[in-house]
Amino acid sequence: MSNTHQTTMIYLDYNATTPLCDEARAAMLPYLDKFFGNPSSVHAAGREARAAVDNARDKLAAFLRVKPNELIFTSGATESCNLGVLGLAGRHPRRGGHIISTKTEHHAVLHSIEHLEKREGFEVTWLKVSRDGIVDVDQLTESIRPETRLVSTMAANNETGVIQPLPEISQICRERGVLLHSDMVQAFGKVSVDLSLVDAASFAAHKFYGPKGVGFLFLRSGLSIQPIMFGGAHENERRPGTENVAAIAGMAAAAEFALRDRAAEQDRQARLRDELWTRIAENVPDAKQNAVRAPRLANTLNVSLLGLDSEMLLIALDLEGVCASSGSACMVGSVVASHVLLAMGLPIERARSAVRFSVGKWTTAEEIERAGDAVQKIVERLKTRTSAYAVA
Ligand code: PLP
Repeated sequence: MSNTHQTTMIYLDYNATTPLCDEARAAMLPYLDKFFGNPSSVHAAGREARAAVDNARDKLAAFLRVKPNELIFTSGATESCNLGVLGLAGRHPRRGGHIISTKTEHHAVLHSIEHLEKREGFEVTWLKVSRDGIVDVDQLTESIRPETRLVSTMAANNETGVIQPLPEISQICRERGVLLHSDMVQAFGKVSVDLSLVDAASFAAHKFYGPKGVGFLFLRSGLSIQPIMFGGAHENERRPGTENVAAIAGMAAAAEFALRDRAAEQDRQARLRDELWTRIAENVPDAKQNAVRAPRLANTLNVSLLGLDSEMLLIALDLEGVCASSGSACMVGSVVASHVLLAMGLPIERARSAVRFSVGKWTTAEEIERAGDAVQKIVERLKTRTSAYAVA
């Protein structure tokens, strides 16, 4: 594997974004340079660009075992989730209806549904999740009504890595004739994704070693969708706007890269993740692993370092050269307690002291060792300081 991505910092935030792989960069360069045409133009320059978009679509469709016209290119996962949720909820001639989801979704889904609730007359059932973050499937069965338009549940959570029981959820939705959208952003390239289970699914290239600002929505053939943007007939009249040709070409190359040796790579990442936890647990008695009993992504470790504050921890880690993330949303530089951990029913002090480490293809055992040492050093220093304040 190329080592162009190795730097002195220890990057343990692969769920936030991944480095661009060399294969994606190489696939993009011709379309940033020589082949600059607009894919909608009829002339030769346009046809070159169109061919790149078509090839990328064919390649992605083959990886996902779906039809090429079932993929709608977008600007990323936020747009895909918005289109999936708003577009499927809005396809009915009658306004309003009922939607089912969970409070552990990413804000791209959560806020789209809240918009439908506040502005479009929809009623929403928020399913309970267990203390380990798993959706209550019995409650799903009970909650479906004749006017239920959509169920939206993510495949894998970005903060905890928890993998939802999509086959069960899908079976319930199919039996009751309800559409299912799934945010598969964190699942792709890490676990196998089965699009036959869902009606729509959202993806973003930068989570699988592709460029930022590009993604796609899978929409099952034959299903209509209400566009959320207007201005052109692109993407079979489902998403207007000139395609980001270079990024789309890069995304297809990145997908191939992410899927290469997936199983072996996941085993390697699980060992690194577990080693980091062992080191933290040995040195920090107040550390608690979150969602530990749930099936989880191999690369994700969410820990609460009780008595300390996520924001302080992240700054201290950064000063030690370790890039991690809190499980929380950063809003203009400040960290708020994770809505995901709170929805799982964890106490506020556990949500406020959470840190997410997520490893990836370039993480090494040596980096994990150094990150473990950094956590120990920081916790000892912060604890001394916190108790000094407590005395004062
Ligand atoms: N859904 C999930 C699960 C995510 O992790 C993210 C990004 O963190 C998104 C949606 C939104 O992705 P983007 O910011 O690339 O639009």
